[in-house]
Amino acid sequence: MLDFSFTPNQQEYRQALRRLALEKLLPRYAEGDQEVYPQEQIREINDFAQEFWRGREEEWDLISCGITAEEVARGDFNCVLPCLGRPYQSQFLTDFSPAQHDRWSEELSTGREMIALGITEPDAGSDMAKLSARAERRGDGWVLHGIKNSVSFLDAAVFYVFVRTDPKATGWQGISGFLVPRDTPGLSFEAYDDLGCRAIPRGTLRMDGVEVPGDAMVGSPGSALVRISRFFDVNRAVIGLKCIGAALQSVAETMEYAGKREAFGHPLSANQGVTFPLAEGVTYLDHARLGCYRVLWMRQNDMPCRHEGAMVKWWAPKTAAEVIHKCLTLRGHYGYTKELPLQQRLRDVIGWQIGDGAEEVMKLLVVRELGTGVATS
Ligand SMILES: Cc1cc2nc3c(=O)[nH]c(=O)nc-3n(C[C@H](O)[C@H](O)[C@H](O)COP(=O)(O)OP(=O)(O)OC[C@H]3O[C@@H](n4cnc5c(N)ncnc54)[C@H](O)[C@@H]3O)c2cc1C
Repeated sequence: MLDFSFTPNQQEYRQALRRLALEKLLPRYAEGDQEVYPQEQIREINDFAQEFWRGREEEWDLISCGITAEEVARGDFNCVLPCLGRPYQSQFLTDFSPAQHDRWSEELSTGREMIALGITEPDAGSDMAKLSARAERRGDGWVLHGIKNSVSFLDAAVFYVFVRTDPKATGWQGISGFLVPRDTPGLSFEAYDDLGCRAIPRGTLRMDGVEVPGDAMVGSPGSALVRISRFFDVNRAVIGLKCIGAALQSVAETMEYAGKREAFGHPLSANQGVTFPLAEGVTYLDHARLGCYRVLWMRQNDMPCRHEGAMVKWWAPKTAAEVIHKCLTLRGHYGYTKELPLQQRLRDVIGWQIGDGAEEVMKLLVVRELGTGVATS
């Protein structure tokens, strides 16, 4: 049977989180555009979530993480990732050893410390199998060389970097993941001047003879890319939901404005030319939203969700960007100022049309399943 409802606890969480996001996050969203990391706001949301789910942990699942993504993004798009909590983290940290969990899990799931993912390189983006950063054996440990670029959370406490450990293996094989704490000698950093998501520093991480112990490796050697791609399926739904949250909040603000602003003797909202694009926007967003929650539900039920994740990853951020753009122009010249959050949301969302896999590459994943008949079954 189909069931599209949240549980009563999830409903309550959703409403309370939305109130918190609009009261506490939204008024400070613009600070992030000045490259101020929203640490205090992240702590507040995480404290709230921990407290809310205490005693009802079994419902703090991936669907609840999706709710977090959507609602937090209504207030501050850049607070989402560090607030997603334990169920989301467990997807990311799935290959961590007990010792690695002991060291990092608690700090990461409460947002007190951040972990950065280093896969992309100057010559390897969509085509991850081309990555050339490498690790060589030295005694019981490894020595890492190479450049990772486009690393979000460049100020993170620890870097989860993907490097070649088997020079003879090709493609996705022979690649292993390592945890490298920020203060490890041989690491250096260079931040970008980004268009959006400016609260989260992104940039280049250089590894110049970085020595790490053998137990810095995450999981078994050689198949790190294959394993992390399981996390990407879920992450793509979460990215979709944060973009959708930002867009739905933009529609709500625009609708309120259109009810008050008068032109030619009546409110803007009396014109279907104004309201129909908003109605179309929420229709597209609503369906993308269902697709995102479906992916989370599928993972929760241990079902494969590769092409479903790819579908929402190209569709949701693109739709959200288009809807926010429309909201911006419907606010007239005010929409073009930095007084309103619309321009910041648009810049933030655009980044996630690229990050974690650009549109065309997501479509390639869907096409792969078209070939097998799975996507049309
Ligand atoms: C906001 C943001 C955050 C990011 N955070 C991280 C991070 O934390 N860690 C990390 O490792 N990386 C991160 N990235 C990098 C991101 O994952 C890559 O940008 C992405 O995988 C695309 O790689 P690329 O930029 O090198 O583009 P390219 O691979 O050079 O592709 C350029 C364009 O060509 C298209 N294209 C490529 N191949 C094909 C094809 N076969 N057919 C049709 N079109 C194709 C792509 O879709 C894209 O539109 C981030 C990027 C952004 C924007």
